[in-house]
Amino acid sequence: MEVEVRKTQTQLVEHFTKLVAKQQLVHAYLFSGPAGVGKMQLALYVAQAVFCQQKEAGKPCLKCPECRRIAENNHPDVVRIIPEGLSIKVEQIRYLKTEFSKSGVEGKQKIFIIQDADKMTVGAANSLLKFLEEPSGQVTAFLLTSHLNQILPTIISRCQLVELSSLTVKQLTAKLVEQGLPPDKAQLLAHLTGDLKLAKQLAADDAFNQVIQSVWEWYRLILKNDLQAFVLVQTKLMTYAETRAEQEVLLQLLVLIVRDAMLLHYQRDDEVAFSMYKTELSQQILPLSATKLVAAMELVLKSWPEMALNVAFQNILEELTLNLCNCYHQR
Ligand SMILES: [Zn+2]
Repeated sequence: MEVEVRKTQTQLVEHFTKLVAKQQLVHAYLFSGPAGVGKMQLALYVAQAVFCQQKEAGKPCLKCPECRRIAENNHPDVVRIIPEGLSIKVEQIRYLKTEFSKSGVEGKQKIFIIQDADKMTVGAANSLLKFLEEPSGQVTAFLLTSHLNQILPTIISRCQLVELSSLTVKQLTAKLVEQGLPPDKAQLLAHLTGDLKLAKQLAADDAFNQVIQSVWEWYRLILKNDLQAFVLVQTKLMTYAETRAEQEVLLQLLVLIVRDAMLLHYQRDDEVAFSMYKTELSQQILPLSATKLVAAMELVLKSWPEMALNVAFQNILEELTLNLCNCYHQR
């Protein structure tokens, strides 16, 4: 796991390796980025760089006892805090403080990592703030979050903010396949979201799996200029549009399938999201010109601002269906 971060967050890994070598780590870092980008791995990697006994050109060896104890969450000077239930409670921060005050030699480096720092209760956050304000000895904190907007500004202002870049579609696809998803599904989800957690949630959702197929049926009817597509909006698509979040996922799926048609026209087969329907889709779009395929893409993208204007979602989809039929099939 820890080695993977060298590939996915190469620049940050190098940056922090240098900081450790120059002993320039600051007191507190806030790692922000979607789930799955390697926030915890990066924090652990930095900890290993600090404590490793057999560094190779400044890089931790990942094999020595120090490195291994950090990876196994069994190192006295590297403490991880994770939410207990739904939140990180004030007692957990107090425990951290006592752990750090009682043990250890003066001046010895210590590291703590708070996973899902946005889940700190107000009490916990205030307790942590005091801790950050009166740093004792060489303490470095890593706060990790996928929801930066839920972190108290007072906390943000005391940390150095480090934003981790999202995984590429390829990296996320590989991760999802590693976790047991079929490659086709993994590829679609990786196009849909940069967030590993959300991708896994969707993969496990029957309604979502059903709507993937419905989107394809809907689009195939449009390509055939069959107005049954209009009926299908109500009977199938709208069943997956109860919440705003679902509506956004659904609209994003429509964007992706219309985009796939355009990509296939330009022989960019590797980049399509709906790879499970690639062959049939390639056949269906043969009669269509590039101009029409691009115009269709613009039509579907225009639906986003309508959503922001609170136009009824079914109206948006019905209008889009008619517009796409016209776009593809009028001379
Ligand atoms: Zn080592």
